[in-house]
Amino acid sequence: SRRASQEHAILAPFLSRLHSTEASAQKVDSRFKGHDMLAPFTAGWQTTDLNPLIIDRSEGSYVYDIDGRKYLDSLAGLWCTSLGGNEPRLVAAATKQLNTLPFYHSFWNRTTRPSLDLAKELLEMFTARKMGKVFFVNSGSEANDTQVKLVWYYNNALGRPNKKKFIARSKAYHGSTLISASLTGLPALHQKFDIPAPFVLHTDCPHYWRYHLPGETEEEFSTRLAKNLEDLIIKEGPETIAAFIAEPVMGAGGVIPPPATYFEKIQAVVKKYDILFVADEVICAFGRLGTMFGCDKYNIKPDLVSLAKALSSGYMPIGAVIVSPEVSDVIHSQSNKLGSFSHGFTYSGHPVACAVAIETLKIYKERNIVEKVNSISSRFQDGLKAFSDSPIVGEIRGTGLILGTEFVDNKSPNDPFPPEWGVGAYFGAECQKNGMLVRVAGDTIMMSPPFMMSPQEVDELISIYGKALKATEERVK
Ligand code: PLP
Repeated sequence: SRRASQEHAILAPFLSRLHSTEASAQKVDSRFKGHDMLAPFTAGWQTTDLNPLIIDRSEGSYVYDIDGRKYLDSLAGLWCTSLGGNEPRLVAAATKQLNTLPFYHSFWNRTTRPSLDLAKELLEMFTARKMGKVFFVNSGSEANDTQVKLVWYYNNALGRPNKKKFIARSKAYHGSTLISASLTGLPALHQKFDIPAPFVLHTDCPHYWRYHLPGETEEEFSTRLAKNLEDLIIKEGPETIAAFIAEPVMGAGGVIPPPATYFEKIQAVVKKYDILFVADEVICAFGRLGTMFGCDKYNIKPDLVSLAKALSSGYMPIGAVIVSPEVSDVIHSQSNKLGSFSHGFTYSGHPVACAVAIETLKIYKERNIVEKVNSISSRFQDGLKAFSDSPIVGEIRGTGLILGTEFVDNKSPNDPFPPEWGVGAYFGAECQKNGMLVRVAGDTIMMSPPFMMSPQEVDELISIYGKALKATEERVK
């Protein structure tokens, strides 16, 4: 078969290519070879044998490595640098705050002006439903850990000590701390870490192309998934299920937009059993999907919302949890009884991070960021989806400025390429060679470019993608 005859031919060049300096095209700097970092989401062999790609500076939609090589940053850092690499107003906002008050905390009813202003602004901006309060954290993972604590505290306050389980979805990404990694539905984040924690259950991944039954429409698929969710709730006992957590569009699990009517049906089930809905908007918020929030796009009425990333355009580590009035009222009355709400981080509401976030949100408004995204998103989506006919592409999917590509054999979700072929890695290396960085996860490629990309930059992105795809097709043929 094609596969058997190709295996040896392909494997060796792929691996040698990945190991060669050609892929990163960087001069060897002995200081960084076998460096001292235990690097996140990096395999041991990569940290010891390879020189990492060292990014040195950024400008607009581009980043530059230490040798001055320029790359179009198609993932906006890690789905976060929405305003690109050198927005001077964010630098000015940080500098001004550093010069005024570089730090003060928000514990014990002390706080700072930037954190109060940012909380107010977020409550005004989030209009999918009326929300009550904002809790600040430093990352998406901390936001989702906080969600679990808030929900448990809430149910304890209501005298429902057994209502503690969380339902997340397979292929979800909610972070990598113990609790958020438990919510995450990717086996790699669980293996050898003794997680997921037992209170976390995972239900179906809503990926229509991969999981629908023959002849099943998107609506029917959504109905079946909602029924499976209901069955799981009944099996576990509704009195034990506290919350359901979902990304409006799944991001790191492969960019998976929901099938038609999915959230409508899921929300009906969740509501029926008095289960809170947590919207993880860490990637989707602030325009990425062509609406200010993912909840706006899919008519989600959440009880709790997680934010991070584009909240500060990635310039400062900051995240937030938005809490509905119903939940925050219960938490308030309970904490008044206890004398304190004993949760928080030294850097919750860090004034510099909040000042940068306030300026970021101001820029989104001034530049009509949602319109800006919508002005380039069809160019981006249509331009890339035009490659769907490629014999090695299974599916190209996305909406707004987020897109995933899945490589498979025979255009079938059931025919993955052998992992050792490294088809996705090859495509990623070809993009890099041609001056663009993409996210590679196995044979899935992900992109979420900055919101301020010019149409010309979108064209460049599509052109490099096309070249890399052609080279990959040649290799696999
Ligand atoms: N939630 C979602 C949807 C994410 O995409 C991420 C990160 O990619 C997280 C949570 C975790 O955020 P952080 O890496 O800031 O902890």
